[in-house]
Amino acid sequence: MPELPEVEIAARNVRRWARGRVIVDAIVSPSRVIRGQTAACVRKALVGRRVARVDRRGKWLRVVFDDDTRAFSHFGMSGRWVKRRPDDPEERSERLRLDLGDRSGRLVSLRYVDPRMFGRFIVAREDIAEFRALGPDPLVDDVDGATLARAIAGKRRTIKEVLMDQLVLAGIGNIQATDALFRARIDPRSRADRLTRADTTRLARAIRWSIDRTLALEEGPEITYVEDANAPNPFVVYGRGGAPCPRCRTQLLRVVLGGRTTVLCSSCQTRR
Ligand SMILES: [Zn+2]
Repeated sequence: MPELPEVEIAARNVRRWARGRVIVDAIVSPSRVIRGQTAACVRKALVGRRVARVDRRGKWLRVVFDDDTRAFSHFGMSGRWVKRRPDDPEERSERLRLDLGDRSGRLVSLRYVDPRMFGRFIVAREDIAEFRALGPDPLVDDVDGATLARAIAGKRRTIKEVLMDQLVLAGIGNIQATDALFRARIDPRSRADRLTRADTTRLARAIRWSIDRTLALEEGPEITYVEDANAPNPFVVYGRGGAPCPRCRTQLLRVVLGGRTTVLCSSCQTRR
């Protein structure tokens, strides 16, 4: 499932493909992805607009246009943007298509593909509430141990669930939380408010390490997700329950926290 690194890679790609270009045509399917809006309204807001800026916060990608209209793209479980030529056929599960031209009239065609349709595409005149409510972003805001300690202060849920709360920290999902807690040697079942300052410093560094590692491994124009058929698992312990711990060879445990499967080493990771 896409988390911060996958959306960051998408933001870099869409920025490279679209910034400075004008949307000359948009084909908007009336799918669940645009729920609450009509396809005609979305199309009308987009056609003729020049892309001024592309950025990301948490798992949201934001495109700001020349008239300050914004488009917010969230990938849900299976969404992704791909670049095609305008005469290329429609993608399987294509929900949205933007054809963008540069000053010399050359066209690129960006397609939003989303088989499961948990993704969102929202056009608005200002930042949407879900975007404004996000907590600090580990890349954008360079979250250190002190920032992390403030963000989790007084939280009595497990640190794993707290890390995945987008209002506490933006962009961390099951994969990044599982690998970062392993790296920081903190048991994911620890209560967040019991972590020490040394723990939050280690954990903030581990989150950044895990994100940077994933970015380096996955960067490219066509992203695959670990759940995709035949996709490799590039993560350290995520999805590896039952396998030996890469550090001490103890068999990794699989536990469920907040309805999500998490993997840990009971020997390397300390419970607070
Ligand atoms: Zn271990």
